[in-house]
Amino acid sequence: MKIRNFFLPTLREDPAEAETVSHKLLLRGGFIRKVASGIYNFLPIGLRTLKKIENIVRAEMNKAGALEIIMPLVQPAELWMETGRWQAYGKELLRFKDRKNHDFCLGPTHEEVITDLVRGEVKSYRDLPLILYQIAPKFRDEMRPRFGLMRAREFIMKDAYSFDANVEGLERSYQLMYETYHRIFEACGLNFKAVEAHTGAIGGDVSHEFMVLAETGEDTLANCEACGYASNVELTPAISGEKYPTEPRKPLEKVHTPNKKTARDVAEFLGLPLAKISKTLIYITEDGEAIAVVLRGDHELNEVKFEKALSGRSFRPATDEEIFSLTGAHPGSLGPRGLSIKVFVDQALKDFPNFVIGANEDDYHFLNANLGDTFDPHLIADLRKAKEGDLCPKCGNPLQFIKGIEVGHIFKLGTKYSSAMRATFLDRDGKEKPFIMGCYGIGVSRIISAAIEQNHDEKGIIFPWQIAPFHIGLISLTKERENHQEIYDHLSEDWEVLWDDRDERPGVKFNDMDLVGIPVQVILGKNLQERGEVEIKIRKTGERLQVSKENLKDSIENIEKALCQSS
Ligand code: ATP
Ligand code: MG
Repeated sequence: MKIRNFFLPTLREDPAEAETVSHKLLLRGGFIRKVASGIYNFLPIGLRTLKKIENIVRAEMNKAGALEIIMPLVQPAELWMETGRWQAYGKELLRFKDRKNHDFCLGPTHEEVITDLVRGEVKSYRDLPLILYQIAPKFRDEMRPRFGLMRAREFIMKDAYSFDANVEGLERSYQLMYETYHRIFEACGLNFKAVEAHTGAIGGDVSHEFMVLAETGEDTLANCEACGYASNVELTPAISGEKYPTEPRKPLEKVHTPNKKTARDVAEFLGLPLAKISKTLIYITEDGEAIAVVLRGDHELNEVKFEKALSGRSFRPATDEEIFSLTGAHPGSLGPRGLSIKVFVDQALKDFPNFVIGANEDDYHFLNANLGDTFDPHLIADLRKAKEGDLCPKCGNPLQFIKGIEVGHIFKLGTKYSSAMRATFLDRDGKEKPFIMGCYGIGVSRIISAAIEQNHDEKGIIFPWQIAPFHIGLISLTKERENHQEIYDHLSEDWEVLWDDRDERPGVKFNDMDLVGIPVQVILGKNLQERGEVEIKIRKTGERLQVSKENLKDSIENIEKALCQSS
């Protein structure tokens, strides 16, 4: 492709609307343009990378025996009412009416539509297992669309759904997809990790996320180098390696703590370690119940664990007025003692002697609170976020925490959707049974952002060879058109080549080529005519080599091999 004939509107400056590196580079490199918040055009160079990823995903899914279909983006409300998600899904589900006043939504995911399809067509265990997938747009009216393709409202997902006759079958389908996902992300040239994950709004009991490792990732993973255990920190059991202080229980003592609101302030004021200061948080559940949660001052509430403790009920922080009417105090002086609402306590406080609690009276705390003596909680459970230094739940060695970007998520759904929608088949024993389902998503468009977050430098993107929009960027610095055309044709026999044949300054050409992240640059300068030599620059390492025209293909082949092995 000659740049002259291409549409590559690169930008020299960072656009103000972009916060993250990948968002800036996607805009600057002319990959995408914003249409509305979280809604983008893909320009030609962006589409090339998107298609590369799609093709890798498609090839591996097909190899696994999954069958491609396309389902509609627009979905009727009736199907969502059958599973109860028309109400339960919340505002991410964009609902609207057609001209006949019928309710519809834009599909954020396709469990309902696929279950409806399969219940109508598949009648016998003989037709199972079945794995269907699509690569298609999804719409989620995200609360905070951001970071370009990372959290868009309209985005491209690969979603697959498996149907099996029994749990052993689901186990096999799940394992097959787990392995297929490893092959997909390897084939994309990404550094990634599979972790145990929380099932969220999709439901089901077991799930794994696939994370592209990048310092800028929104997700935190707990990883055990010793045994290979890895989980999303939302799910990681918090197991402390600390020794508890051994001291006898002391009598409760009220102290004046004027204007000391945070646990840190109180710790400093009282001259005690932060761990000894508890904090009490008050939440209101979706059905209006107020619950107090007590944690150590140096610990954070894990909202996923808390939601589980609430039997899946969602919750929000109580307002200051609600807090005052429930406790008689304002935030900063709250404690579990004497409350008439349920109190949940994190297990780290279970045998922890003589900690500090708020007195439910502004500017007062109690020293020497002890579970059982000072108050009796309704529940003691693991409610806190695991943190660096906590121990691996499998082998007991310390966990490391790393950042990642979720690019894939696989779930064992069981019969959640098939039971709700009466999607059944006739089993070997002549009985009608609900399909046992799994579902498997990949954020195809998010992979582009994730790949850039993982692979860039101050000059721009450094795409892995496998998903680069072009393999070779050919840069003409002299005006020997015919000679250059010959090299372009020669290289194009084996690779995808973007040829910068513009009458621009060399600096502009070099900058653009670095920006868009093409892995190999071939620079055609004076040496071509004088000595029959061209320069190769490897984008990732910056390494430059002079090679003769005759050796050009061999050299690039070697570079391709090395790049594909290293990524
Ligand atoms: P997240 O926690 O990031 O919101 P999710 O759990 O809602 O993700 P799934 O429903 O499992 O995501 O969707 C499958 C995949 O689709 C995700 O792993 C992610 O890669 C991608 N994805 C989800 N939401 C978005 C979005 N708003 N923009 C781009 N990709 C997305
Ligand atoms: Mg989401």
